[in-house]
Amino acid sequence: MKPIVALGPLVSNRIAAGEVVERPASLAKELVENAIDAGATRVEITIDGGGLDRVRVSDDGCGIPADELRLAFERHATSKITSAEDLGTVGTLGFRGEALASIAAVARVELVTSTGGDAAGGRIRIEGGRVLEETPAGRARGTTLEVTGLFYNTPARRKFLRTPATEGRVLVRSIGELALAAPGVGFAVTRDGREVLDIAVDAPFRARAAQILGKEATARMVEVKGGADGIEVTGLVSASDFSRTRPGHQVLLVNGRVVSDASLAHAVVSGIGGAVPGGKHPLFALHIRTDPSRVDVNVHPTKREVRFTAKDRVFSAVRGAVAEAVFGVRFDRMGREGALSWKVSARGDPPAQDTRQGSLPLAGRSAAATAARPAPAESGTEPREAGRTLRAVGEVWGAYLVVEDGARLLIVDQHAAHERVLYDEIRLLASSEGGVPVQGLLEPYVVDLAPGQNPEDAAAVLSGMGFDARPGGPTSLLVDGIPGSLSQWGGGEFLAELFGSAELARAGAARFRDALAKSYSCKGAVKFGQRLHAEEIDYLLKRLAATDVPRLCPHGRPIYLEVRKEELDDRFERT
Ligand code: ADP
Ligand code: MG
Repeated sequence: MKPIVALGPLVSNRIAAGEVVERPASLAKELVENAIDAGATRVEITIDGGGLDRVRVSDDGCGIPADELRLAFERHATSKITSAEDLGTVGTLGFRGEALASIAAVARVELVTSTGGDAAGGRIRIEGGRVLEETPAGRARGTTLEVTGLFYNTPARRKFLRTPATEGRVLVRSIGELALAAPGVGFAVTRDGREVLDIAVDAPFRARAAQILGKEATARMVEVKGGADGIEVTGLVSASDFSRTRPGHQVLLVNGRVVSDASLAHAVVSGIGGAVPGGKHPLFALHIRTDPSRVDVNVHPTKREVRFTAKDRVFSAVRGAVAEAVFGVRFDRMGREGALSWKVSARGDPPAQDTRQGSLPLAGRSAAATAARPAPAESGTEPREAGRTLRAVGEVWGAYLVVEDGARLLIVDQHAAHERVLYDEIRLLASSEGGVPVQGLLEPYVVDLAPGQNPEDAAAVLSGMGFDARPGGPTSLLVDGIPGSLSQWGGGEFLAELFGSAELARAGAARFRDALAKSYSCKGAVKFGQRLHAEEIDYLLKRLAATDVPRLCPHGRPIYLEVRKEELDDRFERT
């Protein structure tokens, strides 16, 4: 072997570049982050050939003093932190001082910058880490960095890239995510001469999301605004649109940083509850803000991963905020008895015109809360005044309800609709301390447990869900009472099925409760094919109107189809 030598900066920068600059998108991300850190209000990005031929980022930020130009391209040179302690409270996107050095090591770079005012600006040209030229230059305050010939001197890396079309798409996408994270900064992206993204400086979150997640999907998303424990969670989530593929439809931001974190994404999904069909992913764009000292951002060279000091709290804050937005109800501890009571949240309401498309927006939040109130259950009570009327026109085949809803005609699957109503109801009730009203059974029902299941735990899970249950022996449960609204109890074979499943037993209490809620709602719901009385239809529609995500049943099947009046007018040639 040869003797050990320390690598010169040219080599070590090129090695480091392998971590920071994976592909054109990561390069663009670093440059745009620098622009945001520089306090820019407008960032213009031009890319050609998927970013392989050219990436140019121009900003109106603070600029770099001419005499610091070379330094900016040195490795571990940064103006953003000065000591190791600063790592604990990083408030900028960059802090590692690696990006410019890494980029310049594997491409041709030209930077023109000015700090504005009377100070002279500067221009520097670097190729493969070597400074070719440095001259004074004039320009308005800000910085323009142009990168051409990415990986020209590391052909092996080029082989790992996808086609320019794919690389370009990924790049634009990653700038879009940054745009979501940076309110108060405008963005324009031009790709191969065509403007593909244009976000005004004052564009609100929803408008930004519309450009990135798509207009229609965004219109159906509900606003999230909540949190707990000093953790603020804001953004948008969809409880009615799902995607088969995860990437691109889920954006997570932590303190202005775009992160990818599967377990955080899972917290979002669990907040949406059982409404996500199997194998699909909900759409969301959420920003989590908390004290920087509670987040470790120095985990990964591309800074896409973060670590939280109190992960569980962050997760439950996220889950809670999402559930509040989707179900419209927040649980607050109130009263001397320590009883939980619900509080209607008006903040999660999407703009009025969006509501129409996303759900049956009839009674709004207050009626959702009515459904959560323990007392009335299934006994035909009068739900809160609906904001608008759903008029049942009739029913066909004992299966579908035909409903007039303003300018839409709805065809409602009665079983799926009732299932949704019961599912939401039991979930809301289960999380309130008043609990689900119980109706006693004449004789206790015996449930055999799967191996490894603890009767005490099993009884606790059931009790929270409106059952009266107790251990009946080392491997069995005795059920003395069932939820008041469970009309078709049928001897409880669904309990036997659930508790007999070893897989569910391992999955933990939360999944178990959800499975129970689904089973319960399916058993309790009116059957498909069962003729309903007019009052029953009326009642069902009112209850449906009071739920917040009535587009899908808990198993993810649609609850209704709609035909708009214009569509009919059009087809009957009345327009
Ligand atoms: P980091 O962002 O981690 O500090 P970089 O290598 O990305 O490291 O940048 C090095 C330094 O160059 C930054 O700390 C900053 O002072 C300066 N810089 C880079 N880009 C810009 C820009 N667009 N505007 C102003 N200063 C910049
Ligand atoms: Mg940087």
